[in-house]
Amino acid sequence: MSHYTLQPHGIYQIRLPMGNPPWMNSYLLPDGDGYALIDPGFNTEAIIALWQEISEEIGFTFDQIRKILVTHHHPDHYGLAGWFQQQSDAPVYVSTIAKKQIEGLWGEGRPLVSYFLETYRKNGLPADLLEQLGEHLKNNMQQVLPKPTLTTLDEGETIQIGDATFEVLHIPGHAAGHSAFYSEELQVIFVGDQVMPDSLPDTCYVSDEFDPNPIHSFIHSLNKLKPYSVQVAFPGHHQPFAHFGERLEQLKRLNAERQQKVVDQFTTEEWKTAYEAYYGVFEPVPALIQKRFHFTETISRVRYALSERLIEQSEQNGIVKYRKISS
Ligand SMILES: [Zn+2]
Repeated sequence: MSHYTLQPHGIYQIRLPMGNPPWMNSYLLPDGDGYALIDPGFNTEAIIALWQEISEEIGFTFDQIRKILVTHHHPDHYGLAGWFQQQSDAPVYVSTIAKKQIEGLWGEGRPLVSYFLETYRKNGLPADLLEQLGEHLKNNMQQVLPKPTLTTLDEGETIQIGDATFEVLHIPGHAAGHSAFYSEELQVIFVGDQVMPDSLPDTCYVSDEFDPNPIHSFIHSLNKLKPYSVQVAFPGHHQPFAHFGERLEQLKRLNAERQQKVVDQFTTEEWKTAYEAYYGVFEPVPALIQKRFHFTETISRVRYALSERLIEQSEQNGIVKYRKISS
């Protein structure tokens, strides 16, 4: 299968292969005598070689990239922003919160990395997995190099791409600082990983500073997107889709079901860590990175249950444990 598809309004959907999910979507939108690029993908030699192939097939050169928009800071979306900026001198747009996450994760001293590991330890992650994750986090810089100069673009602002005006929407949940780009004229929305046709997005806990309650944010973002009239939604993974409003409702239901599964892990008698709850909810997966997403999503869900006063917490010897509040 070819790695790209021409979608309505001259938008190219570029599929960059990865493990799970099977690919991530980059989008090229006609923009004057060049293109705007949304979510350029992560930096590996194979992906850069693929981009070279695709640019020849479509018939554009990298210096024709006029702007680079990033929906959220995760490496599969943001990673190649700096590389494309080097080729094109194009501005790289991210939200203010995404910029802070990028600086914390990949900037000077990488303070978020040690913060992550401490959060995982407190939530019961076993020592061997903690060590493996520490190694992984220390060695994943390559995916996001070189570092671009960032320009902030936040909700309330608009950006012109070709003849269309795109509104910037702040839709946290999957990631704090996650943006969507919506054009009323074209009736299209670029939603990153927040609204996907085939799966419920991970809603990973990062820190209170970024988002103390990602599940609450996720539900809020789904509700916020409801009034927008959309003919085609362009997600960060899987295929573009119609019936956007219905999908928002489905995701709310799927989220509620998963949330209930996490709450059901707790009883009034026994104290459990978020890691022990994760074990009861998610099927075991071999990939460390996937385990991490599931585990940190469980932390988010435990925090949501806490905010709903369904469970209570207690810290014992530096480990946080939870149990159900008797109703
Ligand atoms: Zn993604």
